Amino acid sequence: TDVLTGISNRRALMSAGEREFNRQTRYQNRLSVLMIDIDRFKSINDTRGHPTGDKVILCVAEIMMSNVRTQDLAGRVGGEEFAVLLPETDLEGATVIAERLRSAVENADVLDENGKIVKFTISIGVATNAPRDNSFEQLLGRADKGLFTAKEGGRNRVVAE
Ligand code: GH3
Ligand code: MG
Ligand code: MG
Repeated sequence: TDVLTGISNRRALMSAGEREFNRQTRYQNRLSVLMIDIDRFKSINDTRGHPTGDKVILCVAEIMMSNVRTQDLAGRVGGEEFAVLLPETDLEGATVIAERLRSAVENADVLDENGKIVKFTISIGVATNAPRDNSFEQLLGRADKGLFTAKEGGRNRVVAE
């Protein structure tokens, strides 16, 4: 478990991801993945301070937890990066969930140490397992590609790969 947010850490998410990937592939069910990264997070840390940056990370984690089902698994895979596993979910369904998360974060805020409102956004890459994916890493890699495209496209958006 990740200490700051209380959600799964990278190692837990990767091992659950590999297990789900093998299971879903064997039974030809869908498994979707969201890769989520907070936009311009460095500038939040630089202008509002590290403790406020941590509050933003917590807020995003809470929004993720309250917007996914119990069979889904949300994890913090890097400093300000998250991933969500969505079993039995096709690309269309995963994109709907991603858009709901993006919108909820856009509408949220935290207060900095001076009581000033801090706004923030996330970008999300979405991918669903396909015959060409030979491993969970490959599936995750495609979601990561979508995330990169979302950043390039101007951030605060969802891109399905
Ligand atoms: P982009 O929109 O391209 O994602 O820009 P960015 O600034 O979010 O991306 P970048 O990867 O350049 O910066 C991420 C920063 O997140 C770097 C690091 O200082 C900060 N960071 C990483 N982990 C933590 C943490 O646990 N707490 C806080 N407060 N900051 C963190
Ligand atoms: Mg990042
Ligand atoms: Mg970032």
